[in-house]
Amino acid sequence: MAIESGAPIKSEELAALVGRVHARIAPERRIASIEVEFRPFANANSFIRMQRGELALRVADLLRTAPVVVLEALATILISKLYRKPVPAGASRQYRSYLRRVDVADHLAGIKRERGRKQILPPQGRHYDLIALFEKLNVQYFGGMMSRPELGWSRRASRTHLGHYDPVHHTIVLSAELDTDAIVPVAVEYVLYHEMLHLRFPVEVKNGRRTVHGPAFRQEERRFAGYDEAREALRRFAHREDPTGIEN
Ligand SMILES: [Zn+2]
Repeated sequence: MAIESGAPIKSEELAALVGRVHARIAPERRIASIEVEFRPFANANSFIRMQRGELALRVADLLRTAPVVVLEALATILISKLYRKPVPAGASRQYRSYLRRVDVADHLAGIKRERGRKQILPPQGRHYDLIALFEKLNVQYFGGMMSRPELGWSRRASRTHLGHYDPVHHTIVLSAELDTDAIVPVAVEYVLYHEMLHLRFPVEVKNGRRTVHGPAFRQEERRFAGYDEAREALRRFAHREDPTGIEN
């Protein structure tokens, strides 16, 4: 099949397409709304989330010019995964073959080079594997439904900036200083859990004021098993009063 890139698709057009695919794959599920947002991700990863009937997709910018059949394949893959249904082989093939295309591959390489300036170390650290920790917390606290963002260790170890969620690159970064057996695992998990809550509760802006750690955020944070132990460990570790000075 010939695959040609066309004009950039609009978010509303993709949302309509997603709605049609959803009705085909999961007609038994009701959705109240569909929201599609294009994000300047450093790779072709896309994310889907369903909360209170609201379906939200975040799609890498570089897919904006993908042909409709490829976007349909992507929607099929994401929705199948969301409901833990088998992904149709045709959709996977269609999507992958598009990413393999030379121009797309070049585009990705360019973004990755650009991204390299951020200097984030891979998620597999010396002591902790952030992917394994993420998946564990995901199952424990998010019903396994949270799409995994990029994860990495900061290149510069910091005892004061222990964690950070970067919404632009959809990346959680933990201070490399935490990748040590000098700190109890529950404390490292707590920092990661805190950052995961930032995905769940995006920054709210009301009357020009930014709420980063709102009441709902704090309430969820206290659900963490070992909350007191973790905060005490971080306090000692960071030598500071409020360990949730953890950057957002
Ligand atoms: Zn925070």
